[in-house]
Amino acid sequence: EKKVVLITGCSSGIGLSLAVRLASDTSKTFKVYATMRNLAKKERLLESVKGLHRDTLEILQMDVTDRQSILNARDKVVEKRVDILVCNAGVGMMGPLEVQSLDSMRHILEVNLFGTIQTIQVFLSKMKAQGHGRILVTGSTGGLHGLPFNEVYCASKFAIEGACESLAVLLQHFNIQVSLIECGPVNSDFLINLQKAELGDASLQQVDDQTLSLYEKYLQHCSMVFQNAAQDTEDIVKVFLDAIHSANPAFRYFTNSVMPPLTKLKVTESDGVKYIKAMSKIIFADEDQ
Ligand code: NAD
Repeated sequence: EKKVVLITGCSSGIGLSLAVRLASDTSKTFKVYATMRNLAKKERLLESVKGLHRDTLEILQMDVTDRQSILNARDKVVEKRVDILVCNAGVGMMGPLEVQSLDSMRHILEVNLFGTIQTIQVFLSKMKAQGHGRILVTGSTGGLHGLPFNEVYCASKFAIEGACESLAVLLQHFNIQVSLIECGPVNSDFLINLQKAELGDASLQQVDDQTLSLYEKYLQHCSMVFQNAAQDTEDIVKVFLDAIHSANPAFRYFTNSVMPPLTKLKVTESDGVKYIKAMSKIIFADEDQ
């Protein structure tokens, strides 16, 4: 019997790569329900699987902010069960906090936090009743330590940590394992889809010069990091596979296999002072700290 996997956010990036990898698995162990908000974007996924996997791949519409669309997708799962739920849909936001509108901040939380939580909610009762299941969530190192100009994104990803850790404690009693796959920078459409304040934007005219010059430094740092240190989605998929194939999956996986030094610093130096200085130095190259 195939393992039924349902993945959110499969029109690009990590979700797309994971769907392709599982649907193409030579063992044919997986039946993949690749879901996406906008079915008009399904060509990329279909091209990537080269049409060979009609029996292992199904594409469904699902907007994680729309409960009815989650329920509709659930009802289209012909096996009437999901063994592995992958909550992956997410969107980034960058810019000085002063310019973020309440609506745009709400949107980030709607997708990243409530989108993830309500997806889990919809599948949870059935998973409990069937007595087994896996919930895998694409986490971010931005959910473990703060990043300047990413306040709302980090808030959404920190919140997911809390929700997932809380659930993990409970769900082990139902033979359901929750795992977070903590990613650093990944080459995906993340930077294209992100809500980002651009330096020339009219909205930035109200922002003070010091913030703007720090934001410029941040943007340079960010593009350097994505150029030099970003992982490919295939690398992330390998970590998902580790978690999926493990009999006793960990709660947290780091995609570089170890906890990045800065994340470690945040954990070991619990008063936070060293982390804040180190991060500031790395991003803004502060000479005086
Ligand atoms: P991506 O933009 O390529 O993929 C995100 C997908 O989520 C897109 O296909 C998008 O259409 C989808 N999505 C957005 N809103 C949605 C909604 N309301 N309903 C359903 N789907 C929706 O970027 P990615 O890097 O593949 O992102 C996947 C996950 O990885 C996200 O949760 C992101 O926060 C996380 N992540 C990414 C990075 C990175 O550097 N790329 C780092 C850490 C964590």
